[in-house]
Amino acid sequence: MSDVSAIFGCNVFNESVMQARLPKAVFKALKKTMAEGKEVSREIADVVATAMKDWAIEKGATHYTHWFQPMTGITAEKHDAFISPVEHGKVIMEFSGKELIKGEPDASSFPSGGLRVTFEARGYTTWDPTSYAFVKDGTLYIPTAFGSYGGEVLDKKTPLLRSMEAIDKQAKRILAKFGKNVTRVTTTVGAEQEYFLVDRAMYKQRKDLILTGRTLFGAKPPKGQEMDDHYFGHLRTRVSEYMKDLDEELWKLGILAKTKHNEVAPCQHELAPIFGTTNLATDHNQLTMEMMKKVAKRHNLICLLHEKPFAGVNGSGKHNNWAMSTSDGENLLEPGKSPKDNTQFLLFLAAVIKAVDEYADLLRVSVASAGNDHRLGANEAPPAIISMFLGDELTGILEAIENGEEAQAVKKQFMETGVDALPKFVKDTTDRNRTSPFAFTGNKFEFRSLGSSASIASANIVLNTIVAEELQKFADILDTRDDMDVAVMEIIRDTMKNHKRIIFNGNNYSEEWVKEAERRGLHNLKTSVDAIPAFESEEAIKVFKKHGILSETEVRSRCEILLENYSKTINIEALTMLDMAKKEILPAILNYNKSVFETLKVKQELGLNISVEKEQAYAVKLSNLTESLMSKIEELDKVVLDAKNNNSELEIAKYYRDYVLEAMQTLRMVSDELETMVSSANWPFPTYVDLLFYV
Ligand code: ADP
Ligand code: MG
Repeated sequence: MSDVSAIFGCNVFNESVMQARLPKAVFKALKKTMAEGKEVSREIADVVATAMKDWAIEKGATHYTHWFQPMTGITAEKHDAFISPVEHGKVIMEFSGKELIKGEPDASSFPSGGLRVTFEARGYTTWDPTSYAFVKDGTLYIPTAFGSYGGEVLDKKTPLLRSMEAIDKQAKRILAKFGKNVTRVTTTVGAEQEYFLVDRAMYKQRKDLILTGRTLFGAKPPKGQEMDDHYFGHLRTRVSEYMKDLDEELWKLGILAKTKHNEVAPCQHELAPIFGTTNLATDHNQLTMEMMKKVAKRHNLICLLHEKPFAGVNGSGKHNNWAMSTSDGENLLEPGKSPKDNTQFLLFLAAVIKAVDEYADLLRVSVASAGNDHRLGANEAPPAIISMFLGDELTGILEAIENGEEAQAVKKQFMETGVDALPKFVKDTTDRNRTSPFAFTGNKFEFRSLGSSASIASANIVLNTIVAEELQKFADILDTRDDMDVAVMEIIRDTMKNHKRIIFNGNNYSEEWVKEAERRGLHNLKTSVDAIPAFESEEAIKVFKKHGILSETEVRSRCEILLENYSKTINIEALTMLDMAKKEILPAILNYNKSVFETLKVKQELGLNISVEKEQAYAVKLSNLTESLMSKIEELDKVVLDAKNNNSELEIAKYYRDYVLEAMQTLRMVSDELETMVSSANWPFPTYVDLLFYV
């Protein structure tokens, strides 16, 4: 392993590179942009572009690309060489400020949810100076925002940056009330990423993994995750080598990859970075996912980022740790030594409580996808019901305020091991609640409902926007009051009175909670199709418009894209199943039928005094299941074909959820049962045992 501090960020045009390579005035101006969101002038861009290009060429780059995040949820890039022709058939390497600031990918084929028709192809990318450029595979990557000729936003970065500005504006108003004038408030995120690794050679034999990222067939293996022996278990050599390689690649890109460990399911793992600003964390999470896949191939592995690659064992998610922080480094969600006396903290906390309660449905939409539907509510990830865990201490303080009582300080306790030789330390005042979708974990909230393959942008756009909204309301109230202290307590008390239903410190996986949540009037939007329409509800459109995040048209188009994605995903899965069932499973089973029936026939013809009773029963069962498989194939074929007979995107999505998924499930059940009967030699592709327990 190389010297980590020497390689860290070596491919990033970060502040130290800027400082070394830019004239002082330019560096200062750029820093101001990064810290305060001030616009960059063309002159400055010219100087930065040249410095970037020279640096990138030294790193072996020949091209540059405007790297953007369209509505596909992944990133997009188009590479241009730095070359520019000069006399005598020669070229020089050039890169101007204009090229740095603006790009124009022909963008007609990105999802726009009806915002543009194909002939209106113009799309622009705009440099985002708040995220660092970097070199990867011989190209200079410039993080950019993406919008259409008509000005509509077509990406995930623009609304994210806007939502960060909204929260900055409102949080500063609140802080001013506490006598603090800070330059900027940013939201910070640490995104823990779960993933699976499987053997590449086996993966290549599974069309379902190749085309859909998850197994659509596969009988339950004799061993799953029931022994709890994989979680935090020692790392297989192959995996540990992969992780080392991955860390190194991420560090070179300036990504603070910090923690790595085995997860619950066999061949499932996790990587957590040290948190950064939401903008950077979002870019970095995209890069992390990309590098996870790339590095895996070098080790003859494949990284699966799907939310549910295997039935019967846990799927993968992403934990979005979120907080707000000032330019002076103060974490606004840090309760401090005595949370009950920290009114500023309690006020920010109240804003989050109110936001999550009022816009729980929007948070649910922000994590909605066909893949994530397999996890939420399946007792391996939080339920689809959004609630908040605050722990006993904070809940106690807030309840005391609500009831006008004196809050009790919680005594610090020491960790007692009963062994004198072990060092003592102060315990946290609350345990963690692993079942909660939105848990306060000491000095940040952990939003745990995100799917593993999703961009974290959507969740953070919603989170930032709704918290900005509540902070604004609080600041508006405080503007009208001279008695700050009383007013703040009133706000906290009212928030508790009206929104405490969102706080739940118990077991989110229990049946009782489902009933209790219903009694409290909380949403239980079980599937993506139930959730997505909330995105274009009156309240949602209002809050996005008010804070300048998305226009009504943009919201509606995003809603359409979500529904379309849902239906398309299931359609591809259904077609892949049909392909595998018809071309691989059925022929294999017919072959196996033949050998079973031939054996039976031979035995019967011999006329020996032997019993073939069991063999006959076996043959009949096999034959019946084979028949059943054929009819399930026919049914799925028909159901998929009929999908187009629905009118709206919502109707289509509902149809896929109610009929296509159902038909897929019954086909799978029959096939999985057959898998348990058929000889290994006859089964056409690697089984769950092969995939989950590779060496
Ligand atoms: P776990 O949830 O697995 O126990 P930790 O509590 O150690 O993990 O941290 C989870 C993640 O939270 C890490 O990525 C860490 O950087 C991030 N984190 C810590 N503080 C903050 C913060 N103020 N804002 C955002 N993320 C944070
Ligand atoms: Mg976590």
